[in-house]
Amino acid sequence: MAGRGCVFLMYHELEMPGRALCQSEPGYVRYILRASAFREQMQWLKQSGYRGLSVSEALQYATQPNVSITFDDGCETDLIAAALVLREFGFRATFYLTAGFLGTPGYLNLDQVRELDASGFEIGCHSMTHPYLPDLADADMKREIIDAKLRIEEIVGHRIDHFSLPGGRYDARTLEMARSAGFRTVATSQAHANTSATNPYKLGRVAIYRDTALGDFGAICQGRGLWKKQLRDWTRHGLQRVLGNRAYDQVRAALLR
Ligand SMILES: [Zn+2]
Repeated sequence: MAGRGCVFLMYHELEMPGRALCQSEPGYVRYILRASAFREQMQWLKQSGYRGLSVSEALQYATQPNVSITFDDGCETDLIAAALVLREFGFRATFYLTAGFLGTPGYLNLDQVRELDASGFEIGCHSMTHPYLPDLADADMKREIIDAKLRIEEIVGHRIDHFSLPGGRYDARTLEMARSAGFRTVATSQAHANTSATNPYKLGRVAIYRDTALGDFGAICQGRGLWKKQLRDWTRHGLQRVLGNRAYDQVRAALLR
C-alpha cells in the first residue's frame, strides 16, 4: 500500500430478484445494493484498470490502482451473488462472517462458508452475534471476538487473520482484545484510505450505499472527497458518545423514517 493508499470498500447483503432480505428496516436496507448495481461497480473497476483485492492482498501489494473489496455479516448472497460477479472480473475479496448467524435463514451455511474459502476468497470474522462491542463486559466481549474467531477457524480449518467491527463501534478495550486474540487487522467503518502508515487495528473502510451513484463510486475508489465522509463520521460518533448507542439508534431510525 503506497502513495495515497488503498481504499477498502465495505459491502453487505446484495438484493436479488425474488429473494427476501435478511432484515427490512431502513437503517439496514440503505446498505443493501441490488446485485446488478454491484456488478456495474465491479465492471467500472475492471474497465478503469483497478484490481479488486482481499484484505491480505491489499496489505501486501503496493502497485496501484487497487481497491480492497469487503463484505460484512455473512449473508448467503456473499456466495450466490457477490462471488459470481467477483469471479467474472477476476477479483478477490474478504468476507467477514458473523459466526452465530451462520446456518440461520438468509445467511451462509457451513458448507457454503467452506465453498467460499476453497474458491480463493478470504474469510474474516465479524463477531459472534453482532452487538456493539464497547457496550459489553469483558466476558461477553471475549465471546464475541475470541470465541467467534475459534468457531470460524474450526469451520474452515485454518487461521483467520482479519476482524471487522459490528456497526463500526469500538473502544481501546475492543482493539486490544482483537490484537491479543491474534487478529492481524481490525477494519472500522471510518472513511479513509489505508497506507503502510495506517494502524492495522484501525483500517479505514468506505461504506457503499444502495443509493451510491456510479460517479460517486468512482470518486470513492480514487480516494476523492473522503474527508467529507470523515466529517460526517466524526459528527455521528460525537452524537453516539453524547446519546449512547441505543438512544442514537432510536434517533437515527426516526430520521430515516
Ligand atoms: Zn455488520
